Amino acid sequence: MVYYPIMFHVRNRSLYVERVPVGKLAGLCGTPLYIYSQAQLLRNFNEFERAFKDVPHVICYALKANSNLSVARTFSQAGAGADIVSAGELYRAALAGFPPEKIVFSGVGKTADEMRYALDSGILMFNVESMEELAALNRVARSLGRKAPVAIRVNPDVEAGSHRHISTGTAENKFGIQKRSILEAYRTARSLGHIEVLGIQAHIGSQITSARPFLALLLVLLRLVDELSREGIRLRVVDVGGGIGITYHRESPPSPSEIARSFIPLLRGRNLKLLFEPGRFLVGNAGILATRVLYRKHSGRKRFVIVDAAMNDLARPALYDAYHRITPARSRPGRREAVDVVGPVCESGDYFARGRKMVLPGPGEVLAIENAGAYGFAMSSQYNSRPRAAEILVNGRRWDVVRERETLKDLVHGEK
Ligand SMILES: *Cc1c(COP(=O)(O)O)cnc(C)c1O
Repeated sequence: MVYYPIMFHVRNRSLYVERVPVGKLAGLCGTPLYIYSQAQLLRNFNEFERAFKDVPHVICYALKANSNLSVARTFSQAGAGADIVSAGELYRAALAGFPPEKIVFSGVGKTADEMRYALDSGILMFNVESMEELAALNRVARSLGRKAPVAIRVNPDVEAGSHRHISTGTAENKFGIQKRSILEAYRTARSLGHIEVLGIQAHIGSQITSARPFLALLLVLLRLVDELSREGIRLRVVDVGGGIGITYHRESPPSPSEIARSFIPLLRGRNLKLLFEPGRFLVGNAGILATRVLYRKHSGRKRFVIVDAAMNDLARPALYDAYHRITPARSRPGRREAVDVVGPVCESGDYFARGRKMVLPGPGEVLAIENAGAYGFAMSSQYNSRPRAAEILVNGRRWDVVRERETLKDLVHGEK
């Protein structure tokens, strides 16, 4: 049986996003086209909220997964905070209405300008990733006559078991400070006049499909909290990052409530606020990329379906060999055969599916590339001078263009 996230379904052989047929939107707005379900966005957020309702917590949406203002505003209005990694994301977070006291700033390479902007905005905390960054932040805060609230990012040496490009919590990658140097880092932080030690943070990877690494991570962090407390350094925030996986193919990732079941007993009676930084989990299954078939061709033993979306629109297959289900906007009976679905860009990596069994779609037919809400549009580019796709947000029968399709003029904006 094909699984559909609740807000995407097939009725009378037509694929719908909530109450709106995908084929209709493709016809009216053109393709390639990102379509998001607001109901699914909220469902994902509320599932998370409910799971952790018994402990003080803030869910900080990792804006980098999908930074569209209307998507972000959906979460800010539902009570989320934001996890940002750049000044640009802070700018977007402010426009989308996230309260500064719920914004955390992650990333290994924050510039002095970015620190100044974030301090002026009054964000909750900086997740600091190195001793040099800590010193730089102290200098910037001093120059503004303020104290910078920080969590130090620990590299907990926990294996997340996901793709090597998106695994971040083991000893040999660039993120965080080694566990054995953490106490020293906090002693230094405490001694700096313009640093306020607030919490501890880690983020061990992305598309994690088991609950075990999260529990292992929390245990590492709580042990450090206790060790620091013995030295008189009392942390108030424990931020476990993001990384909760979703079902692209046959994965069965943990639900927030499964994670919560192991977390809550460990957090009871402690005076700690729990932070999460989910990105993919909140938006991944809430978006599709609609694309139209241009041509079909045989080459050797292979059958290709060439569509009007490409790796510049959705880079995940090219970058990570990622699997995305593909469903026709209008299905019809027929023999299924193995096809490669590819885009028009001049790169062999420009594909969406290889050897995928489907009823061969004809030219002009619309296909939905599923689970494209996270790291889809956000990672898109104008490679091959292709204007970026439009984005639509559906809410029941209502739908809005929440980002206009780029024009040819947009391609040369600012150039001479
Ligand atoms: C990317 C990232 C996230 C979000 O990751 P997801 O896998 O989308 O949940 C959260 N925190 C940090 C620090 C990140 O770099």
